[in-house]
Amino acid sequence: MQRRGEFRVSVTKDYLVFASAHFITFAGHRCESLHGHNYRVGVVLEGALDEESWYVFDFVTLKKIMRRLCDAIDHKVLLPLENPRIQVAEQGDSVTVAYERKPRYLFPKSDCALLPVPNTTVEMLAEYLAGQLRGELEAAGAAGVTTIELEVEENFGQSAVFRLRLR
Ligand SMILES: [Zn+2]
Repeated sequence: MQRRGEFRVSVTKDYLVFASAHFITFAGHRCESLHGHNYRVGVVLEGALDEESWYVFDFVTLKKIMRRLCDAIDHKVLLPLENPRIQVAEQGDSVTVAYERKPRYLFPKSDCALLPVPNTTVEMLAEYLAGQLRGELEAAGAAGVTTIELEVEENFGQSAVFRLRLR
């Protein structure tokens, strides 16, 4: 059967959340103080139907993957490893954080999520999570998925969406 349309499937569940601390830097010499958000995550996949199952991707598996990705950064201090103004260093069981070379924080390493991003904005968190999801989908053999749209909301009505084309 020839299909002219395309499919989008989405998952937004009340458990796809992470409550984490962060701070971001702004242009110039401004840096926020440490604070937290109850982040919410939503995901949309676009793609072709799996020819045997008649779905784009298994919801059960997608929910499990997303929950795992959220749990990995839940109740953590989110720290950017690629911010030229923020120096993050691991020392034994601790992580030290400096802003423009001035010591600022000392955290237990187990309380930190060190992320390969330049700033922990919702935009960068959405891109990071989309990249993690891409790896998980590839490992799960999701051949038909063509696009990932990943949304991270940090406040009611305040979110960013990253759209990642897989092919
Ligand atoms: Zn914030």
